[in-house]
Amino acid sequence: MLSSPAEDVLARAAEAGIVAVVTIGESLASSAAGVELAEQHDGSDGLPGVWATVGVHPHNAKDYDGDAEDELRQMAAHPRVVAIGETGLDFHYDHSPRADQLRAFRAQLALAAGLDKPVVIHDREAHEEVADIVSERLGPAAWDQAPRGAVIHCFSGDAELAARFVELGCYVAVGGVVTFDKADSLRRVAAALPLDRLLLETDAPFLSPAPHRGKENEPERVAVIARAVSEVRTEGLHHIAAATTKNARAFFGI
Ligand SMILES: [Zn+2]
Repeated sequence: MLSSPAEDVLARAAEAGIVAVVTIGESLASSAAGVELAEQHDGSDGLPGVWATVGVHPHNAKDYDGDAEDELRQMAAHPRVVAIGETGLDFHYDHSPRADQLRAFRAQLALAAGLDKPVVIHDREAHEEVADIVSERLGPAAWDQAPRGAVIHCFSGDAELAARFVELGCYVAVGGVVTFDKADSLRRVAAALPLDRLLLETDAPFLSPAPHRGKENEPERVAVIARAVSEVRTEGLHHIAAATTKNARAFFGI
């Protein structure tokens, strides 16, 4: 949740050239709040339209059960819900036992496949496990039970891992870390990714890009991230903005 009123956040985003916002669920409560926000901001007031994802983050995977899944399924029927997630694995914090994380991740991939929605995947220090599960679900053997698409959000692996995800048909999302001094590896990834697989994101309120580090991150800062990516790729900002907007529209179906 951001501390500013949504109208102010969206007005600043519009000023920075942002045309649409997807707010990400990480628990049942935050998913419901995202759906409500999306309902209130359908773009008819001249501000960027808001869409929502619904999901249970690996941090909260211990709470994932049949009731939680039913609730996600009901929320996902809302026309402004465009994906399932965040789901995935976080072996850095291990806020939920790994067995629960694996169970909730597999269950939400199956849920997304059943609902014909794409998934937003969180991978922190669980690269091999996430890649293996994604290849089970999106690889050639699973074409009939695969979600409509997947994005590895705030990608934190190397170029080789990024290539593996691209091979599986995933999008790879780059956030504010690409501006950090020590992020040469991510800059190499951002430079090498096929442009039609690249998404930009904030992970708001976290990971504000330089020179705004330490401040609350907001959708407007996607413009800062776009500029950084255009520099590492030596491609025009307008070209990067147009391509990543097109990719996001295609991925989320908005
Ligand atoms: Zn995440």
